[in-house]
Amino acid sequence: MSDSEPLQLYRKLHAVSTRVHAARSLEALMNSVPADLCHLFDCDRCLLFVMDQEKDYLVSRESRVAATPGSIAGYVALTQQLVNIDDVYDSSQLRAISPELQFQQGADQRTGYRTRQVLAAPVADAQGKELLGVVQLMNPRNGERFSAMQVECLQALCETLAVALAARQSPRFALTSAAGRHAGAHNAADADAAAALAEKIITEACRLDASDIHIEPHAARGIMVLRLRRDGALLPYAEAALDMHAALVARLKTMCGLPTTVAGHPVEGKLLFREFSQFDVELRASFIPSAGGMEDVVLHLLSSGAPMPLERLGMVAATQDRLRAAIDTTHGLFLLCGPAGSGRTAALHSLLLRLERPDAKVWTIEEPVEITQPGARQVPVQRETGTDFAAALRAVLHADPDLVAIGDMRDSDTAAMAIEAALNGRMVLGAMPTASSTETIARLHEMGNERFAMADALLGVLALRLAKRLCEHCKLAYQPGEAELELLLAEYSEELQKTEAWRADPRAAQLRIVNGWRERHGDARGGFTLYRPVGCKECSKGYKGRIGLHELLVPGERVRHLVRERASAPQLRNAALAEGLRTLKMDGIDKILAGVTDVKAVRGAL
Ligand SMILES: [Zn+2]
Repeated sequence: MSDSEPLQLYRKLHAVSTRVHAARSLEALMNSVPADLCHLFDCDRCLLFVMDQEKDYLVSRESRVAATPGSIAGYVALTQQLVNIDDVYDSSQLRAISPELQFQQGADQRTGYRTRQVLAAPVADAQGKELLGVVQLMNPRNGERFSAMQVECLQALCETLAVALAARQSPRFALTSAAGRHAGAHNAADADAAAALAEKIITEACRLDASDIHIEPHAARGIMVLRLRRDGALLPYAEAALDMHAALVARLKTMCGLPTTVAGHPVEGKLLFREFSQFDVELRASFIPSAGGMEDVVLHLLSSGAPMPLERLGMVAATQDRLRAAIDTTHGLFLLCGPAGSGRTAALHSLLLRLERPDAKVWTIEEPVEITQPGARQVPVQRETGTDFAAALRAVLHADPDLVAIGDMRDSDTAAMAIEAALNGRMVLGAMPTASSTETIARLHEMGNERFAMADALLGVLALRLAKRLCEHCKLAYQPGEAELELLLAEYSEELQKTEAWRADPRAAQLRIVNGWRERHGDARGGFTLYRPVGCKECSKGYKGRIGLHELLVPGERVRHLVRERASAPQLRNAALAEGLRTLKMDGIDKILAGVTDVKAVRGAL
C-alpha cells in the first residue's frame, strides 16, 4: 500500500459518512450504503443487514438471515464481535471462531458466485446495548484478506451507521414523518409530507399488487400503522408517527374531492390516482371514525384495466375444454360461485370476454364496476337511488339484451328473472356467494325457483377459490414418501368414497386415480416431485401470487333429473361425482402434484 492510500481511504470514508447522514429514510440508506461501501473498500459485494422488530432476523435488501450463531451475520449480531475470514469455505477457520459457525452457501449456489474473504462488523448503539445491524463485506478485488486499516475504517463507519440507523429505526418504520418533529402544527411542511406519504403508499400498493391499504391510528402507542392486503392476507407494511395521521387523512380526502373536516360519520370517496401519478388506478376510499376522535382509512384498489382471458385463470386444460363447450350456445344460464375473494368477478369477466360478439348487445350489472369490459354496457348498482340488482336487471331485460352478466344473484327476484331470461333466448351469466357447484343449485331451489325452468336453463356451475401459489424463485423440490401420497389420495377420494363405483371396487378406483396422477404429473419412473415453501426477497414466506381452483359442474342426465326432482344438496353431489365432477379439492391436489402450490395453501383456500 502506497503512502497516499490511507489518506485517500479516510477521505472517501468521510464522503460516505456524509452521505449516510444525509439519507432521508432507512430505505434510502439500504439502497445507497452497499454500493458506497463496495467502492470504499474496493470489494465485490457488501450486505447491510438491519435487525427486524422482533429481533428474529437480519434483513438486507437481498436476503434475510436468522439471528442465530449458525451464520456469519447472525454470529456477529449475537456476539457483537467483528470477524475477518480468509476463506469462508475453510471450515477450520470458521470453527476457530465458533464451533457453530457456518457459511450459508445458498446465495453462492444460486448465483454461481464464489465468496472467499468476509469482513463483518456489528452496528450497535454507542453503549453497545442494542444491536441495530451488521455490515458484511466480501471479496476484496486484490484477492487478499481485508487489511487492518480496512478493519479500522469499517469500525469507524459502523459508528456512523449506528447513529443513522437508530434515527431511522427499524424497517417497519421506513416511512419517517417530517411532521413528527413539530407535533400538532399542521403547516405547509406537514401537508407536503402528507402528500408525499399518500403518493408513496399508493404507489407501493400498486407496485406490490396489493388489493387494499389500511391506515390505522393507535393513539395509545403514538403511532399509525399501515397494512397492505396482498394475495388475500393483511400484512404490516410500515409505521409512522401519529402526528402525521391527521395531515395524511386530510390529504387523502382532498385527493377524493371530499371536505377535509372530520365528518363524525363514515364517509366514502373515489380516488383517481392517475391525476396524481403515472399509475392509472382507481381507489375506493372509506373514512371511518374510530376511537380517540380519529379516522381509520381503508383504500381499496379497484382492479384496473382489462379482463383476463379465460386461458389465464389457471384452469386445467380438461376443465377449460368442458367450460368452452358448456357456454358454446346462444342462450341459457351459467353460474359462478364462491365466497368474496374467490376470483368470482375476474372469472365472470373472462367468460364475458369469451362470449362477447360485435353483433350482440351485452349488459353487465355490478357492484361496483371494477373491470372495464370494452364490449359491454356496464351498469353499477346504486342502492341509494333504489337501483339494486333486481331493479337494474328488470331495466336491462327490457332493453333488448343478448347477453347479461349479473355480479350478484343472491336475491330471489334477481334469480327468478335470470332463469326466465335464459329460457327466453338470452345468455345469462350470474355470480352467487355459495360454496360449491351443487350447493348453488340447492340454493336456487330454496329460493323457490321453478324446478323445471331451472333444469332447462342451467348450462353449468363453476365454483372457484384462490390458493396461494409457491414462489417460483425459492420453492424447494422433494420426493414425497408413501405416507404423504397415501394422505393425498385419502383427501382426493374423500367424497368419491360415497359413490357406487367406489363401493363396488375401492382398489380399482384408487388405482385409477393414482394412474391418472402418474400420467399427468409422474416422472419416467412413475415418481412425483412436490415442493415446499422457503421464502426469499421476491416473495412472502415462500408464496407469491395465487392460483385458481375450479370445480365445474355441467349437469348430465342424472343431475338434470335430480334438479327437476328438487333433490337435496347431498343427492345432487353424489350424482355429480358419479358423472365425473372434479371437486375443488381434487383440482387443488392436482395443482399440488403439478408443483404449483402445496397442501397447506390448498387447505387454506377451501
Ligand atoms: Zn420466494
